[in-house]
Amino acid sequence: SIYGDYIKSVIRTVPDWPQSGINFRDITPLLQNSSAFRKLIDSFVHRYQDMELDAIAAIDARGFIIGAPVAYELGCSFVPVRKKGKLPFRTISETYTLEYGKSEVELHSDAFQQGDRILIMDDLIATGGTMLAAARLITRSGGQVVETATIIDLPEIGGSRKIREAGFGVFAVCS
Ligand code: IMP
Repeated sequence: SIYGDYIKSVIRTVPDWPQSGINFRDITPLLQNSSAFRKLIDSFVHRYQDMELDAIAAIDARGFIIGAPVAYELGCSFVPVRKKGKLPFRTISETYTLEYGKSEVELHSDAFQQGDRILIMDDLIATGGTMLAAARLITRSGGQVVETATIIDLPEIGGSRKIREAGFGVFAVCS
């Protein structure tokens, strides 16, 4: 992305949060900066405007912040992929392993039609576990994953490679 270096410059790294040894990438300075936030959303809109998306499936919770304005601008549906227990209607779910323990993401079973072209969005790819679980959910429910998109990829952790090896494209604004 042409704004990649600029966007990266307005993301803050917080050492040892939420635990010792983790360098947490904090996007709140980027969100506070209206011109940076606009450039971020425009980067996604520019990439996906001619891809005939039916829906953006955004991951709870920071994926929502970017997924909603991109869906609005592209004129496609917005579908939340949520943490377990948040969606009220019939759901399908995927469990995935974290460094410590497990996590589960859910999707409404009527979130889209068979064959719909779906873009998955989240703020960051580390191990890729969350994005891959979302991609499996969408594939299982009959959606076609056009690509996965993120603000930040941490390539040294290997998540984006894992996602690509599973057959899904990855677009990252910065890494
Ligand atoms: P993964 O499943 O290991 O790829 O982790 C990605 C998920 O964890 C995303 O939903 C992110 O929101 C969250 N996450 C992990 N590390 C960070 C970070 O440094 N900053 C912001 N979110 C993070």
